[in-house]
Amino acid sequence: MLRNPFEDWGFALWRVALVAGAGVLVGLFVGHVWWGIVAALALELARQLANLHNLLDWLRHRNRRDPPDSGGLWGDMVSLVSRLHRRKQFHKQRILRLFRELRRSTASMPDGVVALNAAREILWFNRKAVELLGLRRKTDYGIAVASLVRVPEFASYLEKGNFGNSLRVRPRIGEGTCLEFQVMPYGEGQLFLLVRDVTRQEQLETMRKDFVANASHELRSPLTVIAGYLETLALDGELPADLRMPILEMRRQSERMTAIVADLLELSRLEANDEQVIGQPIDVAALLAVLRKDLVTRDGARHDVTLSIDSPDGLMGDPGLIHSAFWNLVDNAAKYTPAGGAIALRWWTDGDGGHFSVSDSGPGIAAEHLPRLTERFYRVDPGRARDTGGSGLGLAIGRHVLQRHGGELKIESIEGRGSTFTCHFPHLRLVIESVALAADTRYSPA
Ligand code: ADP
Repeated sequence: MLRNPFEDWGFALWRVALVAGAGVLVGLFVGHVWWGIVAALALELARQLANLHNLLDWLRHRNRRDPPDSGGLWGDMVSLVSRLHRRKQFHKQRILRLFRELRRSTASMPDGVVALNAAREILWFNRKAVELLGLRRKTDYGIAVASLVRVPEFASYLEKGNFGNSLRVRPRIGEGTCLEFQVMPYGEGQLFLLVRDVTRQEQLETMRKDFVANASHELRSPLTVIAGYLETLALDGELPADLRMPILEMRRQSERMTAIVADLLELSRLEANDEQVIGQPIDVAALLAVLRKDLVTRDGARHDVTLSIDSPDGLMGDPGLIHSAFWNLVDNAAKYTPAGGAIALRWWTDGDGGHFSVSDSGPGIAAEHLPRLTERFYRVDPGRARDTGGSGLGLAIGRHVLQRHGGELKIESIEGRGSTFTCHFPHLRLVIESVALAADTRYSPA
């Protein structure tokens, strides 16, 4: 424990006075008082210098030497420095232990982790990142990650800074490895980059897609034959009365199966390619007028269907795909809204792009279903949806169609009040009215 510093300083001053006093006595004894004082103080100075030398020597080699055995102020200084040194060693060991622990735990992670600074330079990475990205310890620290992961999509993913979605890429062409990158921002502009090998998942996904596409393709021909025979049978005037109902039901079900197979094939075609559709200019006003007319012709006055075209602008896209996505929304509104309800179709454009919405006064959809609605075969009320004859794939197809046009589907609904399905298209998809008219590209349904 340190002594009171004032006591030490007092003791030190007394000591100097005593040395000077001893010098005076010796000086008197030899007949030269001043020489006696100077000699005594010189000895005291030599002693202090020796202490200083011992302290410096210990500080330089303190890992190998014991602290000097000095008393007074020098002793206090030595114990203070020792204490600071011990504390520093303790914290150093603790940080080292934590760091080793962190390295060991991140090394056992199945994903690669790379920490990046605000300039997207590598600060640190784990063992899996070495394996997946071919990074090298020591040499790659401080290097821009995009210059090491040489994939253009990855560079633009980092540049855009929109990290809500992950990115899947094949970094080394020909090797077949598929990597998924996910960025998580932290601190002040720093990023955590997670890298995962999703090759197996991709293969399974491709196998699943191929299987569905092949199975649907194989089912199409036998179904056409069955539907054809059932149609002939249903038209046969000599059909026994007790068979009429079963045949009608079989015909209805075979039509449903044909619709499901057709939708599965359509979905497979859309999933096979995620490149953006370029397409051609579509006159949205004309397309919506046709959709409204088709609905009213089919359902008569079952619903009050209104159409408002708030922009003369058209849309650049694939007319067949856009027609099918829009029609599915209109058809759903009609299917799920009871007779007497209202359906409103609207097309408008603004600074964000073009928007098509279908609002209905139907039963609405509970909030917990909304995020899953565009999954294939997801239905809020499976029994009721099957009665309406739907395939359960319409919204899944619609979502893909919009994705291929750079757009997205937003669903808002209040249970018991109705729903609004809105297709949003980016600004660059719009065909400004004068251009569309000049090109004379009025939409004509096939
Ligand atoms: P389906 O062929 O069953 O209509 P969709 O993919 O088009 O398949 O729709 C999925 C489900 O979303 C439907 O089964 C239904 O439960 C719900 N749904 C879609 N549109 C509406 C709507 N306008 N009102 C209420 N529910 C809807």
